[in-house]
Parts: sequence; C-alpha cells; structure tokens
Amino acid sequence: MQLDELGDWRKTHYTKDVNPDLAGKQVILGGWVRNYRNLGGLKFISLQDKYGERQITLKKGIVSDKVFNKAKVGYQYCIMVKGIVQTFNEAPGGIEIIPSEIKILNITPDKLPIDMTGETLSDLDLRLNNRALDLRSLKNQALFEIRGEMLRSIRKFLFNRDFTEITTPKIIGSATEGGTELFPIIYFEKEAFLTQSAQLYKEQLSGVYERVFEISDCFRAEKSRTKRHLCEIFTLDVEMGFSTMEDVLKLLEEMVHNVIKDIRKNQMSALKYLKMEDKTIVPEIPFPRYKYEEIINLINKNFNFDIEFGEDISTEAYRKLGEQLKEYYYITHWPMSIKPFYIMPSKNPKYSESFDLQKGMLELTSGGTRVHNKEQLVKALEESGLNSLAFKSHLNTFDYGMPPHGGFGLGIDRWLTILCGLDDIREAVMYPRTPDRLTP
Ligand code: ATP
Ligand code: MN
Repeated sequence: MQLDELGDWRKTHYTKDVNPDLAGKQVILGGWVRNYRNLGGLKFISLQDKYGERQITLKKGIVSDKVFNKAKVGYQYCIMVKGIVQTFNEAPGGIEIIPSEIKILNITPDKLPIDMTGETLSDLDLRLNNRALDLRSLKNQALFEIRGEMLRSIRKFLFNRDFTEITTPKIIGSATEGGTELFPIIYFEKEAFLTQSAQLYKEQLSGVYERVFEISDCFRAEKSRTKRHLCEIFTLDVEMGFSTMEDVLKLLEEMVHNVIKDIRKNQMSALKYLKMEDKTIVPEIPFPRYKYEEIINLINKNFNFDIEFGEDISTEAYRKLGEQLKEYYYITHWPMSIKPFYIMPSKNPKYSESFDLQKGMLELTSGGTRVHNKEQLVKALEESGLNSLAFKSHLNTFDYGMPPHGGFGLGIDRWLTILCGLDDIREAVMYPRTPDRLTP
C-alpha cells in the first residue's frame, strides 16, 4: 500500500482541544485508529492521540467518494484527518469530525499481538512484550497522566518549600549501604556498581543546599518475584538539613495530602477511567503514628503471630495488618539493630529515629533522622561490619560542618500502584525491569 506523506500537514489541535466552540471550523487531527466500523454506507473511525479520542464520521454522499473509499483502515493505523467539527449528541464527547481528506501515514498487520480496543485485557506479560503498542491503551494513557501529575505536583510542593533539585551519580565505586543487593558493572578495568539509592549523596548535599530532593532511578538486585518489587525503581529522595524525623514526618504527610489533592483536581477523568475516584481520596493529616513495638504487639495479639522485638515484619504479617489499617499510617522507632548505620539511634539506643510510611500492607517510604557526627558515624559503620575505608570520601564530608539532617526515600512506582489501584507494580512503569525481564 502506498503511504501518504506528512507533507505540509500539521496538527491544528489535539483531541482534547476539539470542543463544541469549534463547530463549523476546520481542524487537522492526527493519531491512531482505535476503532473502525464499516456499516456499508456509513463508516466510523475512532481516532486516538496522546490525550484521548474523537469520532470521525463518514457518510456516503456527505463526504466525497474519494475520502469514503480511502477510509479502509485497520486498528492502530497512523492517520491524519482534515475535517469540519460538528456537534452530535450521540458521538462520544458530543462531537464528531466530518473529514474532507484523510492521510494514511502508516499501517499495521491484520492481527495485532494484543487487544487495543479496550474490550478485553490481554495478559500482562504479552502486553509488556509489546509495550510501546500497549502504552497507547486508554488505561495506560490514564495511568501515566496520573504519574505525570504526581511528579509535577511533588516538584511544585517541594520547590515551594525551598528545596533544591539535585542529581547524583548512578554509577558508584562502592556499596551505599553495604548491601549485597547491588548490580556489579564493568567500569573500564574496574568493578563498579549501579546505585541502590541516593542516600549518601543526598546527605552530603543537605550540608550544601540544606533541603534537597532527587527523583531518579536506582537499582535493586533482589530476586524478588512479587507484585511490588522491581529491579529498577524510581524513587523520590528527600533530605533536609537542620531537621529531625519529626520535621520529616510532617513534610511527608503534607506532601502526600497535597499531591493527591492535585491529582483529583487535575486528573479526575483519568481517575474515573481507572474507577478510582472514590478510592483515591485526599487523606486526612496528620497520619496515625504507631511505634514498631505497638505494631508487633498488635499483630501478635490480633492475628496470632509471634514476632519478637528486633525482627522484621513479614509479608504475611503486613497482609494481616493491612486488613486492619487500610489507610496511610506511620510505623516509627524501629529497632536500631535492623536499621542501616546512618540512622540516628533514639535516646534509648535500643530504638532508632526511623520510620516507614505505609498504605495498608504496602511500604511506601522509609526515612528518619541521620547521624551527623563523624565519630559516631564511623563507629556505627564499623559495628555494622562495613569497612570505613570504602566510605572514606563520604566520611570526609562530615569533617566540614555537616548539619543535623533527616529525610526519606519514597517508591514512586509503588505509590502509583496504590493511587491507580493496580494489581502489579510492573503496570506502573513504562519499561519494567524484573529478574525475568530485561526487554523491551
Ligand atoms: P521492601 O522491604 O518493601 O522490599 P525496602 O525497605 O527494601 O523495601 P527501601 O530501601 O526502604 O526499601 O526503599 C525506599 C522505598 O523504595 C521503599 O519504601 C519502597 O517504596 C521503594 N522500593 C524499595 N525497593 C523496591 C523494589 N524492589 N521495587 C519497588 N519499589 C521498591
Ligand atoms: Mn524500607
């Protein structure tokens, strides 16, 4: 088939901009064929672009024979349409386009690998194998609009509070937290790693810009095959100089409150498309706070577990807990013994100035007050079995007036999973990386 050239055609509007005020006016739209119906003397094309869809109506005798005959299209053909806007109550959105010319810019095979009509949902792995096509679905359109709004709103909120956006290296020479969960890479003649978090750099920069944040990816080499773990994650990292956990808890709950407010204000139709308009509601603040000890006692008592002080809370225990605590809540003052070296011990050093933000069973954030005294930090490092030599350059920065500071890391993909009511975190990322998936 001879394809048309773009030539001098340019879009005059996106589908979202075509409104009843434009009735009688000519527009040029471009996008993909989401649906095509041929009823003999009448054809409908549903044209979708990055914002939504509009109906193109071709009635024999009303449109020219040339256009009518040309309108033989397949699902996801890339087309452009020049035509007149007409109000029509029965068309989706109350508007249709009566075309005077159509360009077919690219075609597709007769059978697409996944359903693109929205009528049935293909298997997630099959969709991920064909991700660029799959991302065009209206569901994904809604989901990634919400992700975009979430990120815009986070930035707006933090800039309004004197935060500076930072960017820190993703290739590092030694382990951030002494973890075993790092991806090694070959860096010229040396071994290096992909970073598992911005932790150390954001701490250093809290001693420069005071309040800093970064939104970026980091890498977890855990072979976790769950619906909430990925190997490449997108996190919001926040660090605040001249602050303690108390300040961090306040900032974070206000941010969560504000971001959801913005999503409801600016992406309500996307929320509605995902049927989340009654579920993703603005949470009341302050969030309930529970100490780790209270939480394990509650789990032990209500659900017949036997968690001892100093143990992590298992997925099974969280699942039960999430049935009781369905909304956002904090778990604070974790045992120091299970926290990384940079976390500040509480007055009673059995506990730590640390917290998780939970939504139901899911952990969304970990954070706390950090140690800013070098001597104390070196001691903590060595006590946790790490070699302080490997952290020499990081530790050096603590020689030059590091302020008391605290912060958190929030999993963006996990939060989107919650906000959009997704079953699997892989849906929340454009190109997810898991132990079993490295393509596309
Ligand atoms: P979990 O115990 O749930 O595996 P974590 O305590 O190891 O998480 P942190 O190091 O505290 O994770 O990372 C900060 C945040 O990043 C987490 O609260 C979570 O929202 C997100 N996160 C961490 N690991 C992953 C992962 N593998 N996949 C997706 N999100 C993650
Ligand atoms: Mn954590």
